[in-house]
Amino acid sequence: MTETADVVIIGSGIVGSSVAYHLAEQGCTNVLVIEREAHQGKGSTGKSMGGVRAQFSTAVNIQMSRYSIDFFSRFDEVVGHPADYRPHGYLFCATNERHLEYLKANQERQTSMGVKNVELVSREEIAKFVPQLRVDDIVGGTFCPTDGFVDPHSVMMGFMLNARARGVRLWLDTAVTGIDVEPTLTRTAGASPASGVSDIQPSHHPTGRLTGVMTTRGFVSTPIVVNAAGPWAAEVALMAGAELPVEPLRRQLVPTEPFDGLPQRFPMVIDMSTGFHFRREGKGILLAWNDPEETSGFKTDFDPSFVEKILTHAAYRVPALAEAEVNPRRAWAGLYEMTPDHHAIIGRAPNIEGLYFANGFSGHGVMHSPASGRITADLILHGCSNVIDASQLSVDRFAEGRLLDETAVL
Ligand SMILES: Cc1cc2nc3c(=O)[nH]c(=O)nc-3n(C[C@H](O)[C@H](O)[C@H](O)COP(=O)(O)OP(=O)(O)OC[C@H]3O[C@@H](n4cnc5c(N)ncnc54)[C@H](O)[C@@H]3O)c2cc1C
Repeated sequence: MTETADVVIIGSGIVGSSVAYHLAEQGCTNVLVIEREAHQGKGSTGKSMGGVRAQFSTAVNIQMSRYSIDFFSRFDEVVGHPADYRPHGYLFCATNERHLEYLKANQERQTSMGVKNVELVSREEIAKFVPQLRVDDIVGGTFCPTDGFVDPHSVMMGFMLNARARGVRLWLDTAVTGIDVEPTLTRTAGASPASGVSDIQPSHHPTGRLTGVMTTRGFVSTPIVVNAAGPWAAEVALMAGAELPVEPLRRQLVPTEPFDGLPQRFPMVIDMSTGFHFRREGKGILLAWNDPEETSGFKTDFDPSFVEKILTHAAYRVPALAEAEVNPRRAWAGLYEMTPDHHAIIGRAPNIEGLYFANGFSGHGVMHSPASGRITADLILHGCSNVIDASQLSVDRFAEGRLLDETAVL
């Protein structure tokens, strides 16, 4: 017997799990999530730094964060599982007037979008957060106390466990190998069936209607597929003949060994002069820096030469970190799913009826997972969402030249 589902979700990372939860929560439970790995979280979700912040520069990202951070603050109660949301804040530090003006403009936009707790902070105030920070070249910054961290694995599992309790099915160890699209045919004006000449022509919009997916467990019949395949999203889109501008980009994180030269609790600190940022992770410190020389591709090996590069930035901003011990074998690399304008792509594929994208989070997929899941479910079930005007994030924006440029990418 052919397996059937009202909705198939490809990928069980934090985004696929959130879409499953939000569909089920609105009563759509005949949903099948298909994951090729034996366990959830083997993609980008398990590699994430877990940062959540509302301090963005574009209205749509601020709206997505506002919805999501409010959701994280209620996650344990609403979803019934822990998110480990820790509102320790994000502290952006500027070392020149241009960056400070940029932070001030962002703060005004954030306030106008309802995020009213972002404060401008002086050098002296910054030094109070982390007394070990080198501040002589810092001219000011911004701090938002409800920014902070979640446990990405826990959020993903919470969404999925809740969805499964409502009837959603999860197939692990099963890869989607193809997407079946039936060409959409239209009758040409003027021709008549009596003429004996075929008057049925493929139309251009849409070019097809989705009928199901091929998997390593057999065919699944479904009218709706959500692409939640993270960095592999473009490959999955191509299975349906759709183009999706999502590219994998390696990001590397370096944890220190236990280190008590910094406070037990302090915000995520971002040095805007280099992009170096760090936060406490258990007894150690988690160091992050996006190497501008990194090139796109499916590279997931940690490069040991990265340790020296990041420690140079770390020791400059926090001289005490020069004493921290690092074991490169505990460091790791993962993939960001980048789009040309660093914003997610959410919504229908233009030429394939039934195909939806929830992709391209460009480093923000964990923090925006509540909003993304809700918006995708809303679009499937109602055709629109009241969280944001979702047309802004549609893939059509690239063909139509409606790019949204986010500059606050870490
Ligand atoms: C080092 C690093 C740090 C990060 N830090 C942050 C941060 O601080 N805050 C933040 O918000 N975000 C951060 N991110 C980004 C975030 O992790 C991602 O945006 C997010 O996890 C994307 O989730 P996802 O569910 O879309 O993708 P994934 O977690 O990659 O899940 C996709 C799933 O699809 C499955 N799949 C793919 N193809 C198929 C197929 N054909 N058939 C079946 N299954 C398939 C994969 O196996 C995978 O499990 C970070 C990322 C990295 C790498």
